[in-house]
Amino acid sequence: MNTVKLYEADAYLGEFTATVKKCISEAGIYKVELDQTAFYPEGGGQPADQGTLGDARVLDVQEVDGTIWHTVTQLLEPGTEVVGKLDFERRFSNMQNHSGEHIVSGIIAREYGYHNVGFHMGSEAVTVDFDGVLTKEQLFEIEQQANDAVLRNVPITASLPDREELAQMEYRSKKEIEGQVRLITVEGYDCCACCGTHVSSTGEIRLIKLLGVQNYKGGVRISMLCGEKAFRDYLIKHTNLVGIAQLLSVKPEEAGDAVVRLKEKNIELKKELKQLKKQLYILEQEGKAQDS
Ligand SMILES: [Zn+2]
Repeated sequence: MNTVKLYEADAYLGEFTATVKKCISEAGIYKVELDQTAFYPEGGGQPADQGTLGDARVLDVQEVDGTIWHTVTQLLEPGTEVVGKLDFERRFSNMQNHSGEHIVSGIIAREYGYHNVGFHMGSEAVTVDFDGVLTKEQLFEIEQQANDAVLRNVPITASLPDREELAQMEYRSKKEIEGQVRLITVEGYDCCACCGTHVSSTGEIRLIKLLGVQNYKGGVRISMLCGEKAFRDYLIKHTNLVGIAQLLSVKPEEAGDAVVRLKEKNIELKKELKQLKKQLYILEQEGKAQDS
């Protein structure tokens, strides 16, 4: 029977009790099936949750044909009850990033008609691929609109429409799939088929920062960060910029121009040095000729 997905009904559930159904040993690690779980399995661009099941650490979570398998560090006895605890800081960060990605993808679909064709939450940044080209100026506009959505603090809800309702609806990622389709709606911004976990209102995302855009497979790859990860990224970059500005004795906003001048000066000095080495070599050769 399929594992009951507690995270679908309540994305904020950080602790739960479940019964161990199976525990398979595989080369020193164990794979555990529970009757129900709040651990999100890797999928739809969102990484697997981590945490603990009893005394065992949960290293990975994968779904295979409706059964969710938890890779753990210790044997868990089938038939026993176990308490699961998520690393909720990590999960909440994933929720912020995933909801932020839906808002950005929704805006890009509406404004430019481009589709999200790839989504990956990496340890450094979230990347989202689109099948059309966007400029840095357009990216700035999209970021403004996305953060307006955060400011307006609109609800994000999940729904399970039936086949007939779905056929009438407009939503992103509309394709024929077996089983129940789950829709995530960001009121006024986006509606998309998605199996991931989301915050319940846009204000919880706190900040959406688009970090950059590069050409990728005929479209673009956008890198972005939300929530605490975006703040931490700002802190690291700000600290670095202030440090560079101090070294160059300029204001932080003038550091870019100062570095350009420094690079130009460096090229000039290298040329001068090359010239002087050449002159020195000639003088040395002349000196040797006089000595002999
Ligand atoms: Zn999604």
